Amino acid sequence: MNKPNEIPILTARLLQQTSGQLFTDSASRGRYATDASIYQTMPKAVFIPKTADDVVAAIGIAAELSVPILARGGGTSQCGQTTGAALVIDNSPHFRKLLHLDLEEKTVEVEPGMVLDHLNQLLKPHQLWFPVDVSTSGQATIGGMAGNNSCGSRSIQYGNMVHNVLGIDAWLADGTLAQFGKIGHAQGRALELGNFVQSLAKKYQSEIITHWPKVLRRVAGYNLDIFDNQSEKPYTTDGHVNLAHLLVGSEGTLGYFKKLKLQLSPLPSHKVLGVINFANFHQAMQSAQHIVKLGPCAVELVDRTMIDLARHNPVFKEVIETGLIDKNAPTPEAILLVEFAGDELKPLIQKVNDLTVLMSDLGHPNSVVQLIDPSAQKNLWEVRKAGLNIMMSLKGDGKPVSFIEDCAVPLEHLAEYTDALTEVFTQHGTRGTWYAHASVGTLHVRPILDMRRDGAAKMRAIAEEAAVLVKRFKGAFSGEHGDGISRGEWVQWQFGPKLNEALIAIKNAFDPNQLFNPGKIVHTPKMDDQSLFRFSPQYQVIPLKTSLDWSAWNVQNNPMTEEVSSAGTGQDPAQGFAKAVEMCNNNGHCRKFDTGTMCPSYRVTRDEQHVTRGRANTLRLALSNQLDTDAFIGGAVKEAMDLCVSCKGCKRECPTGVDMAKMKIEFLSHYKAKHGFTLRDRLIAHLPQYASWISRIPFLASLMNVRNRIPILAKLIEKMTGISASRTLPKWRSDTIWKNPIAKSPQDLFIQSKKPVVLWADTFNGYFEPENILAAKNVLEANGYSVHIPMKSQGHYCCGRTFLSSGMIDKATASAQELLEVLLPFATQEIPIIGLEPSCLLSLRDEFLVMGLGDGAQIIERNSFTFEEFLLKEYQCGDFKPNFTPAAQEMLIHGHCHQKAFDVVTPMQTILGLIPNANPQIIETSCCGMAGNFGYEVEHQEISMQMAELQLLPAIRKAADKLIVADGTSCRHQILDGTNRHAIHLAVVLEKHLPTKITTSQ
Ligand SMILES: Cc1cc2nc3c(=O)[nH]c(=O)nc-3n(C[C@H](O)[C@H](O)[C@H](O)COP(=O)(O)OP(=O)(O)OC[C@H]3O[C@@H](n4cnc5c(N)ncnc54)[C@H](O)[C@@H]3O)c2cc1C
Ligand code: SF4
Ligand code: SF4
Repeated sequence: MNKPNEIPILTARLLQQTSGQLFTDSASRGRYATDASIYQTMPKAVFIPKTADDVVAAIGIAAELSVPILARGGGTSQCGQTTGAALVIDNSPHFRKLLHLDLEEKTVEVEPGMVLDHLNQLLKPHQLWFPVDVSTSGQATIGGMAGNNSCGSRSIQYGNMVHNVLGIDAWLADGTLAQFGKIGHAQGRALELGNFVQSLAKKYQSEIITHWPKVLRRVAGYNLDIFDNQSEKPYTTDGHVNLAHLLVGSEGTLGYFKKLKLQLSPLPSHKVLGVINFANFHQAMQSAQHIVKLGPCAVELVDRTMIDLARHNPVFKEVIETGLIDKNAPTPEAILLVEFAGDELKPLIQKVNDLTVLMSDLGHPNSVVQLIDPSAQKNLWEVRKAGLNIMMSLKGDGKPVSFIEDCAVPLEHLAEYTDALTEVFTQHGTRGTWYAHASVGTLHVRPILDMRRDGAAKMRAIAEEAAVLVKRFKGAFSGEHGDGISRGEWVQWQFGPKLNEALIAIKNAFDPNQLFNPGKIVHTPKMDDQSLFRFSPQYQVIPLKTSLDWSAWNVQNNPMTEEVSSAGTGQDPAQGFAKAVEMCNNNGHCRKFDTGTMCPSYRVTRDEQHVTRGRANTLRLALSNQLDTDAFIGGAVKEAMDLCVSCKGCKRECPTGVDMAKMKIEFLSHYKAKHGFTLRDRLIAHLPQYASWISRIPFLASLMNVRNRIPILAKLIEKMTGISASRTLPKWRSDTIWKNPIAKSPQDLFIQSKKPVVLWADTFNGYFEPENILAAKNVLEANGYSVHIPMKSQGHYCCGRTFLSSGMIDKATASAQELLEVLLPFATQEIPIIGLEPSCLLSLRDEFLVMGLGDGAQIIERNSFTFEEFLLKEYQCGDFKPNFTPAAQEMLIHGHCHQKAFDVVTPMQTILGLIPNANPQIIETSCCGMAGNFGYEVEHQEISMQMAELQLLPAIRKAADKLIVADGTSCRHQILDGTNRHAIHLAVVLEKHLPTKITTSQ
């Protein structure tokens, strides 16, 4: 182990000799202290190398100073193998290149930090893929997958990682680069090491034959059996020995991967899916052994608990129900997803028909839903992939814990094994949710345990009883997720003491000074060593009086029924805020880069500090006093929150519902209370108030607009306020909606009228683009609605959004209360409240519920709609029957991220689709980057544009002939700044296509 003064030397030398970034502060180290397991260990330092030379230098310096090294990819491991008191080296930001693609041989060489989905995206045009399809495909790196010997849902056809790796170039502990591949081609250190391990394999041959599990899914230990294969699937198809396979599954303990050569597979042209609904779990398990005889490439289990959780999740509900025979009947006890793939569709349909017949023969007639449509299949697979994450959304301190979640047993024993283990859970007062790889006897199951209380003792007891079952059925204790800490001590149990000695000998030959990830695979700690837990009985949260209401998270759960106690009873000293933060289980789903919204700041920076997980970890460590004193209101949390654009992408897309936008409001309220508000904070927050004066004082609006025309003035204002001079500001107007006589209507007349609706004029549309409100009014009135726009003599009714995003909760609450009071009489009578600005309207359905506004907030929530959402609802029930004139241009839609978070972008597409020839298409984007005031702030202007350049602006530039429709004021500004194109609000588009021309100008 290193001496206490080694870290400053390490730091100085790394900074001097490499081009990488080094972090030694506690928050940065804390963000790398966890993976997706229950464990946490503070690294010594975190290093982000930029070049291969940086890695070599780091290995050399660390070796000299005896500082251990821990290689890291996505950090999504479940057993703690990616945690350690080491110099953590993160491959993922800079080592993600495809190095060489050989289409003839169907092989590829990649750097270790390349993410699987990214690789497969690049391979798709060649009709190829890398088929180890782990559920974390959007985050898992090839280096991490090889480190863990990962396995995908289709391993029955394609095998595990080890069956698909052809070669690894790895740096050894002395800094030598060794090439591991076919033994016949081995040279130098690789050959020496290969020969040594071969001699061990000979020496321990009879032990290997006796103790090595024969199942496909065995990932424990080192692959000593490559010289005498014991698995039901041989390592290589022609029987040759490949030394790279020694490194696969070595969890960073033998060498540091520089480059990996992979075998690719042809992408099957067609797939079909049979979803078998079972009324009885045992029977589902019994059936697996028969189903595999039909030659499927996957048989995946989803049990009732998980189906129910998915049915309660707005993202997954509709999709999971496509797999149910009858969505109105009670939820099946289990479903099995059986996939057949091939190049011809017809034989696959025959296969799924055979499956239906087989199930009838087995006593389950009419139990199979056949999904032939590829998109329906893809969607259902997404739900299955999200299985674990769905399960982890359980609130309270008891969580499903990973430690026996991938034991593998032969299929003929699967039903008996699952029954027996369920019984074990019951005896320990808990239960498990079952899912995943029924095809290969590896079912994921995580009993609910409370690691802060009696979880450790129960974990050990359950593991010991599970081990007895695994041995009885001749299975493997570690069948997918690796050994790490939770299974490290079971390596010796699995193989016996003699083979354990052989594994130690391998480690010593590769890494005599225990440099690489010590304490994993050999010389392992106890799985229940509480000093290694993320949440141990010593874990304590600081008391905090929260600004928002987090009581919904302040609950405990019953591990048997999963019922949660009533809001506020969870004994969180931070009134539920800490528990909300702790919902992040580090699965890394927020590190995705292609689909959805989450997390724009990570997509641009690739920095763990600027992803939802990094933020949640920083908050958790601060709230539990593991950083500096008063860290919660200090710089580390501030920096982690700095690039969060409050897009709410995580609110919807984080599988456990980590709502960082709300957390940022909570944080800001405390931070600003301590550090005070800046001039810019005040200017932004109070805009709804002073806007009214600017619009009223003659010539003041025009005067204010001078700033946009005189660059020196803009620069001066930038210096004074921090508002970027390179942005134009929204144009002040004196003709606001509140001054427009057309907008006025007497309230009492209105309530009695036909089809009444309230059109709430927000700050942005009301002051800067009143024509949007008039357009909406015209569209509504043209279709028979009576429109009321709430007015007051001075100013207007504001939701308080600008106060919220500046951390002024009291003022936001006062504003919200005032709006609520004016809207409530209408909402109580179920008169719809319609808004045009997505972030303002949707705050009525989101933040209003946690601002202590009373029961009225729920009434408002139920009755408020975005404009297009309302029109769609009315269209669907036949009350809105528009007769729009044809469009001259096709349309492209950019959805505001809050629309995406509330799944209300598609109504824009449907409503615009009612305009003949509009052919509206949605641009697949994350956040536009402007995000309210974020993009106007001088320090954020550049990154804001980078966010926009990821997808949005290129898509708009490509569509020069299309009309761009965007409901968000800030989105429209970003589009204008980035492309010089004027996007318009949907209301204006609809108004333009009304059959009779109505003018919106005063
Ligand atoms: C929700 C969820 C679902 C999952 N589903 C699956 C699944 O379907 N199948 C499956 O197999 N696993 C699954 N996992 C586990 C995990 O995602 C996979 O094992 C994944 O392949 C790990 O990739 P990573 O990049 O996150 O690796 P990391 O966790 O970063 O690293 C994994 C190991 O590899 C080592 N390593 C990383 N880079 C290098 C390198 N350059 N050189 C040497 N060693 C290196 C690390 O030291 C570590 O020991 C799941 C995890 C979660 C949270
Ligand atoms: S924030 Fe959500 S998506 Fe990201 S790691 Fe945490 S739980 Fe997973
Ligand atoms: S609100 Fe948006 S930017 Fe902030 S953490 Fe969530 S996804 Fe990332």
